[in-house]
Amino acid sequence: MRLKSSSGRWIGRVFGPRLRLVLFFLLTWLGVAVLLGFLLSEGRREAERKAHSDAVGVSALLEARLAATLRRLQGDLEDLSATLPRDAFKPALLERYRDAVTGTLALHAGHFPEVAGFHVVDASGSFLFASNRLLQKSEANSLAYPPLSFSGPDNSLSFSEVAHDRVSGHSLMAVAIAVRDARGELHGGVVAQLDLTYLAKTFDAINVGSNGVISLRRVDDSRLIVRRPERLELINQAVVNNPLHQRLAAGERQGTIRFRATIDGIERIYAFQRIEEYPLYLTTGLATSDYLAEWRKMLGMAGASALLLFLSLSLVLIRLMRAENEEGVVAAKLVGSEARYRMLAENSHDVIWTLDIATRRYTYVSPSVTGMSGFLPEEIVGQAMDSRLTPESAERVIHEVDQRLRRIAAGDKTASVVVSELEQICKNGEVISTEVVSSYLLDSEGVAHTILGITRNVSERKAADLALRETNRQLHARIEEIGRLQVALQELAVRDSLTGLYNRRYMDETLEREVSRARREGNPLSLVMLDIDYFKRVNDTYGHQVGDEVLKMLATILLADIRAEDVACRYGGEEFLILLPNMPLDTAMQRAQGWRKAVEELSVVLGNFNITFTISLGVAAYPEHGKTPDDLTRCADQALYRAKNQGRNQVTVFSA
Ligand code: GH3
Ligand code: MG
Ligand code: MG
Repeated sequence: MRLKSSSGRWIGRVFGPRLRLVLFFLLTWLGVAVLLGFLLSEGRREAERKAHSDAVGVSALLEARLAATLRRLQGDLEDLSATLPRDAFKPALLERYRDAVTGTLALHAGHFPEVAGFHVVDASGSFLFASNRLLQKSEANSLAYPPLSFSGPDNSLSFSEVAHDRVSGHSLMAVAIAVRDARGELHGGVVAQLDLTYLAKTFDAINVGSNGVISLRRVDDSRLIVRRPERLELINQAVVNNPLHQRLAAGERQGTIRFRATIDGIERIYAFQRIEEYPLYLTTGLATSDYLAEWRKMLGMAGASALLLFLSLSLVLIRLMRAENEEGVVAAKLVGSEARYRMLAENSHDVIWTLDIATRRYTYVSPSVTGMSGFLPEEIVGQAMDSRLTPESAERVIHEVDQRLRRIAAGDKTASVVVSELEQICKNGEVISTEVVSSYLLDSEGVAHTILGITRNVSERKAADLALRETNRQLHARIEEIGRLQVALQELAVRDSLTGLYNRRYMDETLEREVSRARREGNPLSLVMLDIDYFKRVNDTYGHQVGDEVLKMLATILLADIRAEDVACRYGGEEFLILLPNMPLDTAMQRAQGWRKAVEELSVVLGNFNITFTISLGVAAYPEHGKTPDDLTRCADQALYRAKNQGRNQVTVFSA
């Protein structure tokens, strides 16, 4: 029994009110610091995640575009390689074939805005025919391609090094395919001049931040083909010792990796992506310094707030402890000399007061009360204890005093000093936060007769608390915004950038899904393929930019007139595919006629031009014409082909 009570006193001494105060402040600050640390590390992780998915999204988007171009180009080259008369390679017959071959090459060149021209070479790589005169000239003057090798398997494409055409100022890369006869003997090759400057413009349209980079390289030795931002001196340079190349060499087709580039010393997250089976790959690199810029600003702000809070807490703590000392002194002097006690009180910055417990009214208030609240001491003395408090604080203080008195009467010695926070109303109506340390003075019988108190204005500390809370709120808001941006980016990856319609990749996925659903649920489904008539004339007459405007206009017409569940996509250059789930053939025909009519009646003024144009449409339906996405697309395409042949500006249904 004795042991227990002495150890109780020991704990009371070690964790005295002063230590408890220090602990309380330390824990408060630590709590805020931990919370801030957590929010900041979440913010950083979020920024990393976003950069990751941005880089992957951009690479995937560009890969889809480039793969589609190469696939089409391969088709045309194969076509040319199969159909060029073999006699045209005989030196004696060159002139006889010149017009016919040149014409065919020019026709193919017209299909590809990304190709500067086509030409034909003989087995030794010497130049025979070209799709245009200019190319013929530049070939002779300035283009020096390393010899193309046709040693690969039949129908495989060979890619040359990048050459700079001084005449046009463009960078070109030759893409070639072999021409052989039935016995497999090599006659020569058909070559397309891929205009890399055209491709680079697509890269330019994508914002990868001020230190970001997009590049196209060869898989075998990572030789550089195109880079944005441009670094001409690096073109055709191989890099085999960087970690990204090593992963490609190990057979990976796509992935992400972070490292510091030796070229410019910038650290980035790179997303790499091989372009189908072609020996090329794309990388999108987003610089750490770009995507962490916002977060770093936040870090500085949070650090400053935490420091401010720590300093103000420490200040309050030091002053509170000093006041406690003073209180001790005052209490001691009170017994001896009231005059000396008054002198002390009157020289303090804090407000010192006494309250008679029997009447609950102030018996003394030090002059510093005027500085704090605007009241004169004589306006407070004689007033009730709760008279200058907000209603909430008044209620709390009355309850608190009653409870303390009960505990003291029950012999609880620890109840005689209490720290509380109260809201006081100043003379000018302003409300201030105060911290009040009250000490209950007991007579020789242990009965409390007076409360001696020290009141301090802590509004500034409160304001610092509020500022910190505001910083936290902003941090949360920022994290939410990052989330929203991520959703927007995912949307962007399935959209065509010119028209805002869905892209081909998205259509391929959706068509697969919708055909399965139609099969499962036994519903019909229609597909409309649409192509602008004589669109090349629009480009040739008014320019490519006006052509682009026409494409956007057509997209607007389609978007305005489709149902929520319909999917309109830009399938190729000026070819559109519209998927109409749950729609039978005859209704789809009516819709297609509607679009055709709307376009026919449209007359738009663009700058000085008044433009009209027409479209041809082919319709195919599930299950009548095809049961798989491929069949349906082919049927719609064939129907479109027939619409073109029968004179254009019409809708045609597929017929076998
Ligand atoms: P038709 O379809 O009636 O047979 O004739 P056409 O003149 O429209 O022939 P085609 O469909 O073969 O021509 C497609 C043209 O579209 C070639 C190309 O210059 C142009 N084109 C493709 N993509 C774009 C683009 O994004 N913008 C612009 N302005 N033109 C494009
Ligand atoms: Mg067309
Ligand atoms: Mg077309």
